[in-house]
Amino acid sequence: MPEKQLPFTHKQLSAILEKYPTPFHLYDEKAIRKNARAFAKAFSWNRGFKEFFAVKACPNPYIMKILHTEGFGADCSSMAELLLAQKTGITGEEIMFSSNDTPAAEFVQARKLKATINLDDITHIDFLEKHAGLPDLICCRYNPGPLKKGNVIIGHPEEAKYGFTREQLFEGYRICRDKGIRRFGIHTMVASNELDPDYFVETAEILFHLIVELSHALNIRFEFANLSGGFGIPYRPEQKAIDLKAMTRGIREKYEKIITAGGLAPLKIFTESGRFITGPHGYLVSKVLHIKDTYKKFAGLDASMAHLMRPALYGAYHHITVVGKESRPHDVMYDVTGSLCENNDKFAIDRMLPRLAPGDTVVIHDAGAHGHSMGFNYNGKLRSAELLLREDGSVVQIRRAETVKDYFVTLDFKGLKKFEG
Ligand SMILES: *Cc1c(COP(=O)(O)O)cnc(C)c1O
Repeated sequence: MPEKQLPFTHKQLSAILEKYPTPFHLYDEKAIRKNARAFAKAFSWNRGFKEFFAVKACPNPYIMKILHTEGFGADCSSMAELLLAQKTGITGEEIMFSSNDTPAAEFVQARKLKATINLDDITHIDFLEKHAGLPDLICCRYNPGPLKKGNVIIGHPEEAKYGFTREQLFEGYRICRDKGIRRFGIHTMVASNELDPDYFVETAEILFHLIVELSHALNIRFEFANLSGGFGIPYRPEQKAIDLKAMTRGIREKYEKIITAGGLAPLKIFTESGRFITGPHGYLVSKVLHIKDTYKKFAGLDASMAHLMRPALYGAYHHITVVGKESRPHDVMYDVTGSLCENNDKFAIDRMLPRLAPGDTVVIHDAGAHGHSMGFNYNGKLRSAELLLREDGSVVQIRRAETVKDYFVTLDFKGLKKFEG
């Protein structure tokens, strides 16, 4: 099996480990920038193309700032994510607010920042108007239902909680038009971690056709089509990355055939990719605490699913490199576990690895998106630090690890003294 590469030498890693205790997440700035540029370049035929990095994938302002310097905006879906974008210097139409089941205060904040609002439901038109007033640009999220097959993470579109039905879209844009809104966009997200480029070409085609129909039926003009995220990454060493050029070539053909030929150009293409941008370029670095030999062999790490939940949540594969033992035979089968009192707290099940010993450093790959950000404090586990490997090889801490003090900060122990029980 091909081995996944690490962006640092053993010597570099030893120096980092001397300074920062495990577990921590480490992001590779050089690779993130290179990847961001390749992504934008693949869409550069489309004037006005913009990627709004899905903040939830890696909500760290340093990462967001790096991506902002590459021309990316921010896709936010909560109050904290909106504020994070603002603090990073990303405001106005550089923010796409793609939320669902949205609290009023978040619409108010999004309007305050002049973010582009992407509505998840037809009832949100009135809700937005009542609580925050209507903007002059609105986007609606389309759920194609049975017209489109979904995938494992997001499920079948008709089972998904997101978006307007087709009929509701016509009605929704009509209501918005009649209320005086003049600028329009459309959004859909039907897949997550999809590796087949044709899937995105087909999604674009569905949206383009819909834009033609809506434009004619309602006499409105669309400024953008937001293809959102869901672009997959090769978690397994034998998987292949999406061929970006082939994908965007396919999208361009549909664009010319449907949008240009239909007289509806220019139409900007937007994306809200998270995983594709940072996923492969973040690593969870951890150490083996214990080797346990019972009915199975277990390698217990100092990280747990509180630091990377995907294997436990979706049964997702994450490649594991044992530092310094890369070329040894992978001839021992382990369940690689964390320390939560939950039996699904496993990074890998029945994984063939070199013989492990306490103290070994293991690197879990592809933890740069939906990794640290999905962390939680169950069992009193504390969230780890985030480090950035800079282009010059230096390392900066971009988020410190939580301490027990952080964990207790919401509790009132003074009150407890007076509390009779
Ligand atoms: C999660 C999400 C994204 C990003 O998904 P990735 O799989 O990280 O590309 C984009 N848009 C919306 C609305 C999302 O919910």
